[in-house]
Amino acid sequence: MEEIPLWYWLLVFFALGACVGSFYNVIVYRMPRGISLINPPSHCPLCKKHIPIRYNLPIVGWLWLRGKSACCHQPISIIYPIGEALCGLLGVLALFSAAAMSAGSVSLELFRAPVVEPAVWAFALSMFWLLLGAYPVCAVDCKYKLIPDSISVGGIVAGLLISFIPGGVTPLQSLLGAAVAGGGLYLMGWTATKLLKKDAMGFGDVKLLAGYGALMGVTGAVETLIVAALLGIIVMVPYGKLRKSDDGSGQIPFGPFLAVAAPLMYLWGEQLFNLYVTFVFGE
Ligand SMILES: [Zn+2]
Repeated sequence: MEEIPLWYWLLVFFALGACVGSFYNVIVYRMPRGISLINPPSHCPLCKKHIPIRYNLPIVGWLWLRGKSACCHQPISIIYPIGEALCGLLGVLALFSAAAMSAGSVSLELFRAPVVEPAVWAFALSMFWLLLGAYPVCAVDCKYKLIPDSISVGGIVAGLLISFIPGGVTPLQSLLGAAVAGGGLYLMGWTATKLLKKDAMGFGDVKLLAGYGALMGVTGAVETLIVAALLGIIVMVPYGKLRKSDDGSGQIPFGPFLAVAAPLMYLWGEQLFNLYVTFVFGE
């Protein structure tokens, strides 16, 4: 483990990301059609024949078959391998950002050096979750106005597990992060609901931010909430004006803003906070 260089681990993270992307492809195809995710096992949607595992490998399977199914030679959309490759790149980004941040600079030597600090793994795994979880949160919240529990509650579980890797967020900080972030947003939503006399905050957002709290700690979750709210206002004001002519109820889901803000704040939250403090209070 100690001698394996970073570039090798980057390939591993690419493969992991591509596998998650491949799983997303299955979900996107099966969920709206009401097909179970595990049963029946992988089969051709056209001729219903079973697909052998080697053709199911992300990206490789598609290239192997040159974009045509092995069973009935029908074209397979290039969207599938592209989606898998993008998820693979997000996996690479997760580990690379962790290694670069720990090293403080990027050089060729960084790719050849082994990953020594456990904190790099803790950061990389949390970042992996944040980046690859952002896609389903955006897609599902925009389409169905809900946030999948597997990402929100799953984030709490993942955050707590990762916190046992030394060097990152400690288990206590993780627990505190989930409780303060989730509890705080719940209280804000509750207050807003009482004041506005209508549902102001979905419980899905509360669980999602609790997950971010578990992964990033209290500070990261608070920064995420602030930046998500700012992003929301920037997008919502022109959108609201456009929609006013329709029915006026053009409610925009908040989940995607949280999901975009979270990895950004995990990476640059501290710098952004310092910049803000310098800006407001001077040197
Ligand atoms: Zn077929």
